[in-house]
Amino acid sequence: MAQTGPQSPREEQAQPSAAPKEGDFSCLRELPLPLREQLDSLGLSRALSQLIESEQRFRDLFEQGPVAYHELDQEGNVRWVNQAECELLGVEASAMLGRPIFNFVSRGAPSESREAFQRKLSGQQALGPFPRDHIRSDGRHLTLEIHEVLIRDARGVATGIRSVMLDVTRRKEIEEALRQGEDILRSVCASSLDALVMIDGGGRAILWNPAAERMFGYTSAEMLGQPVHDLLAPAALRQRFQESYPAFQKTGQGAAIGTMRELSARRKDGSEFPIDLSLAAVQKGAEWQAVGVIRDMTGRKRAEEALRESRESFRRVVENAPEAIFVATKGHFRYLNPAAIKLFGAAADSELLDQPVMMRIHPDSRAAVAERIRQVEERRADSPPWITKYLRLDGTVLDVEGAAVPFLYEGEEGGLVFARDITARKRAEEDLRANEDLLSQSQSIGHLGSFDWRLEGDSDVMVWTPETYRLFGVSPETFVLTSETFPTLIHPDDQASMQTWMRECLAGLGPPDLEFRVKLPDGGIRYIMGRGHLLPQEAGSKSIHVVGAALDITERRLAEEALLRRTEELKRSNTELEQFAYVASHDLQEPLRMVSSYMQLLSRRYKGKLDSNADEFIAFAVDGAKRMQQLINDMLAFSRVATRGHEFEPVEADTALKQALSNLTAAIEESHANVTFDPLPVVSADSGQLTQLFQNLIGNAIKFRRLEPPRIHVSAERRAKEWVFSVRDNGIGIEPQHLERIFVIFQRLHTAAEFPGTGLGLAISKKIAERHGGHLWVTSEPGAGSVFYFSIPVQGQ
Ligand code: ADP
Repeated sequence: MAQTGPQSPREEQAQPSAAPKEGDFSCLRELPLPLREQLDSLGLSRALSQLIESEQRFRDLFEQGPVAYHELDQEGNVRWVNQAECELLGVEASAMLGRPIFNFVSRGAPSESREAFQRKLSGQQALGPFPRDHIRSDGRHLTLEIHEVLIRDARGVATGIRSVMLDVTRRKEIEEALRQGEDILRSVCASSLDALVMIDGGGRAILWNPAAERMFGYTSAEMLGQPVHDLLAPAALRQRFQESYPAFQKTGQGAAIGTMRELSARRKDGSEFPIDLSLAAVQKGAEWQAVGVIRDMTGRKRAEEALRESRESFRRVVENAPEAIFVATKGHFRYLNPAAIKLFGAAADSELLDQPVMMRIHPDSRAAVAERIRQVEERRADSPPWITKYLRLDGTVLDVEGAAVPFLYEGEEGGLVFARDITARKRAEEDLRANEDLLSQSQSIGHLGSFDWRLEGDSDVMVWTPETYRLFGVSPETFVLTSETFPTLIHPDDQASMQTWMRECLAGLGPPDLEFRVKLPDGGIRYIMGRGHLLPQEAGSKSIHVVGAALDITERRLAEEALLRRTEELKRSNTELEQFAYVASHDLQEPLRMVSSYMQLLSRRYKGKLDSNADEFIAFAVDGAKRMQQLINDMLAFSRVATRGHEFEPVEADTALKQALSNLTAAIEESHANVTFDPLPVVSADSGQLTQLFQNLIGNAIKFRRLEPPRIHVSAERRAKEWVFSVRDNGIGIEPQHLERIFVIFQRLHTAAEFPGTGLGLAISKKIAERHGGHLWVTSEPGAGSVFYFSIPVQGQ
């Protein structure tokens, strides 16, 4: 402190050449005594010492005082600086003394300030106060306010400047903040969407912002100074305001202060609208003023109403939705619509609300559901539908298709879940799959494929079952099936008929069955029988829809072909046999006739002339020849059935029967047989053979009689497409084990001695029946009689 500014002038003064500086009275004490006494006598000494004391007081004051102070000489160099200024500027006094002040506080170029200083000294430029920004050596920014006064000598000449520096940094900051605050307030006022209104102690408007102008329809010019309550409050509220305002005026208190109220307000046009009003009290001197922030709630109210309505309609939709919908937060049921309550088998939502959702998920599905919930929560995104097993309250399991979306329910994040019971659908799908498998298996077992062919406009879609692909020797993976590619699989020789078949389908004609061959990749051939059915068209539709089946008939065809070949062979060998039999019997006749006639000659001429043995031998030989003749005749007759038959023509069966009876007259008479018959039909037949057929059967019926006279009845009945004739007798009958045998050539059940015959009669009869397209068969009761039946197709069938 002692080394600060005040020493410097003294040091300067101590120099011998230095004249006492203006205002420096310390030299008085050094005056020679006589001079001092002289001064005393003049009464000046006291004045001088007072002066000196005042000078000291002044120095102490500025030296120790809190206000920064310096004095500059004519050049602007620091002549004196106090401690407060050194501290303010952050510079040592020793550094400043004798140096231009501009080095320490000037912001501009030193020369500029020096020039300004000189102008001030010469009175050309006004002195401070003026503000100056200063940056201290430690980097701190200061705002200084510099007050200046000229130092003059006794002659009144300016010899320097005294300055007091005030640190106004804080004040400036506050002023700046205040200014900014005012700016903000002004712009808030101007731009606020809420009306800002201020009323003085008398209830008159002193602030009316643009939003208030817009909201109420009064301009600020119209409104300022006007009683706010009278103009803005609806009649019903006005009295309440007027009653409560005087108390507020005095105390700044009131029920509405510091709160927000929903009220109504009145516009200039008289219309009323809902507002939210917030009031604050501001004290101005002794009176209380009020600031109101008013928000027009018309839009909000409308929006709230719309929201309420939309919530209501959403609730109605959800409540009536056929789909189960529920809300879960934190894994617990929060809401269930009636369909969801039903889905879980509950009677009311209370059975499920606040229960963990997982309890209603089948254990098999729990891990998957937990994962889904995590995904919905994490991604905050909808979950795609998935299938879950739910547990109803009674423990039964449901297959459910569900989807979830993130959902905010009463402020809590959760999920809105849509669930659909697909148990029946799943079962139907499983059944369908099983049916498809069954169909596929049966098709594969039966070698029967099916197809579906639809044509509508440009679309031409052909669908095959797996078995159809197999039948055509291609795979659905590699073969692209269309109505164009399909014919390429057909054997070249059958392609034309397939094209015709397809054209008939396109023409809307019922396509006929079509047998065709498929060319297999291994070079083989497969025979297919195709059968299509044209489905009826819907009215107005031009679409063609053919469904059908393709049956693998390869085996059948091969078997048929083999059979055909065998039949041909049989026919050939049969013909050969017949030829042989005919030729043999015909050619045997001649030598046999010779043997027979000579044996008869021998018998006639030498009977009784040789020994008794010879007679017997000759008799045997004659008999044998006769039997052989009979045999040959029958064989000829047998072979002639096929070769010498006549064309078929309409024949009255009873005419043929009568002819047969006539041929049998001798036998009938001899046996006293009684032959009866019903009316018989006309049939298409060889009349000679039909007569023979009747004759053989009636002949046998007479021959194989019992002791009593034979009773024979002939009748005919129509069965479907044929006439069945029957010849019934009361003869000896036939053992069941022989019923087949008797129709075979040469087969007999008796010796010639018992019943004469060759065993060819029934074989011939059978052949005749078969030549006519019918059959011959027998039913019999041994010892009671037999019925021989033969059938002939009804004419024209
Ligand atoms: P044949 O009459 O020459 O013996 P068929 O071929 O006419 O030869 O008959 C074969 C056998 O069928 C007969 O031997 C006989 O045993 C038996 N038979 C045929 N017709 C009758 C009938 N009406 N009653 C009993 N047996 C019969």
